[in-house]
Amino acid sequence: MTDTIFGKITRGEIPTEFLYEDEHCVVIRDINPQAPTHVLIIPRKPIPMLVEANSEDQALLGHLLLVAGKVAEQLGVGDAFRLVINNGAGGGQTVFHLHLHILAGREMAEGALAAGLH
Ligand code: AMP
Repeated sequence: MTDTIFGKITRGEIPTEFLYEDEHCVVIRDINPQAPTHVLIIPRKPIPMLVEANSEDQALLGHLLLVAGKVAEQLGVGDAFRLVINNGAGGGQTVFHLHLHILAGREMAEGALAAGLH
């Protein structure tokens, strides 16, 4: 399996501030924020993309959602944030290690098609 920058970050090989961490995931600030609050929830397990997760990952995927809610609360945006997962190059994914984006702090246009990150 190819390593990515997120593999290096989760293993601590590239010094990065963790806003939150536990045995399953870390949370970092996005280097190129698309909103005043833009953080990434990255599982330590290097699943390349969501569709490559399997039933063994069910608890992990649920955990990532719970962490998203907790971190959004911690960051003071618990009542107004967007959670995004890009899947595959065609879905806008650029780093092939599953991650969730929390975006908040700006007006989020309504509607599914307005959810684009870039
Ligand atoms: P995606 O397009 O969903 O694969 O998102 C990848 C995200 O990772 C982009 O929003 C990048 O700005 C962000 N990113 C890439 N490298 C780093 C890094 N070293 N530290 C923090 N965020 C990064």
